[in-house]
Parts: sequence; C-alpha cells; structure tokens
Amino acid sequence: MYTLPALPYDYAALEPAISEEIMHLHHQKHHQGYVDKLNAALSQRPEASLSLEQLLRQAKSLPEDIRTAVINNGGGHYNHSLFWQIMSPNGGGEPNGRLLADIVQKYGSFQQFVDAFSNKALGVFGSGWAWLMPNMDIVMTQNQINPIMDGEPSPILGLDVWEHAYYLDYKNVRADYVKAWWNVVNWPEVEKRYVSEV
Ligand code: MN
Repeated sequence: MYTLPALPYDYAALEPAISEEIMHLHHQKHHQGYVDKLNAALSQRPEASLSLEQLLRQAKSLPEDIRTAVINNGGGHYNHSLFWQIMSPNGGGEPNGRLLADIVQKYGSFQQFVDAFSNKALGVFGSGWAWLMPNMDIVMTQNQINPIMDGEPSPILGLDVWEHAYYLDYKNVRADYVKAWWNVVNWPEVEKRYVSEV
C-alpha cells in the first residue's frame, strides 16, 4: 500500500504564494486520489511490493492492464511527494554552494536560470510539470510523467503547472503563480537532492 505523506508544514503556510484552500484540495483530494487509484490498480498484484521509485522506473514495461494507471497515478504520487518537499514557508532567495555555482555556470546568472525555468513552465501546453535535472537541464513533461520513467535521474526541483495547482488563486494567469512560487522554493532541500544525485 502506498500512502499519502503528511505535508511538512501547515496548509496555510505557503500563503500568499499558494492559498490554504488550494493546498487542502491539492494534497487531500488530488494527491490522495492518485494514491488511492494507484493502490486500487495494484491490489492483488506483485508490483505493489515495489518502492514507488522502482515501480516508476519500470512503468513503461509494466503489463498493459496496469501500465497507464501506474504512469498517471504513480507519477502523480511521486511528483506531488517531491513538490511538497521542495517548498517551504521559509523559502525563496537563492541556493548556495555547488548548486548555485553550477546554475550560474550553465545559465550565466541565477536570474537567467529563473527566467529560463519560468519560461519552460509557461510553455507547458495543458497539464504538466517543469523540472530541473541534476545535469542542470530544464525539461517539461505532460500530465504526471516524470523523467525517471525514461531512465533519467530524479529531478531535483519541480513545478506543478496543472490548473488545479493555481486556478483558484490566479485564475488563468499562470505567469503570476510561477512568479510567486519562487518565494516558497526550499533551496536547502533542492541542494540536498542535488548533492545526492551528482
Ligand atoms: Mn498537482
């Protein structure tokens, strides 16, 4: 059985960037829904004994009758579990150390990285995510796809740009959501993930 992780902060803690109402719905309805549907799809199946990451790393070669459910709901569980961790009420600012140095080396400055990542997030057509990979590439995926399903390392930063992530607060203006989101990015957590991947 896969289980919904508790939020590492209160539902209202990310205001004003993300409202308490969105966080309640996003965690308790959307994320819980992915967990429940994943468990339902894998009930009585040996694949249910795999860790979530093991499951997703072989998602595309799973039996056809569970493959789509794992990609959609297992992906949703994995992506949101990461998303809650890489945000913090004490977030924002810039990373430090090696991560900052490598961002600046690749993008020229931290601000140019922010612009590039934001543009990638704004360019996602429909529902999906923008990711920062350990090799400093910025990639997008549709729906609940995660790069690990294609054999890639785990992303170290991700931004949910499904409308459910921002519509109640920002209506159709995804750009304002993306701009505000930088104020809650938990850079120490991103740095921790970076150091463990490279
Ligand atoms: Mn979401």
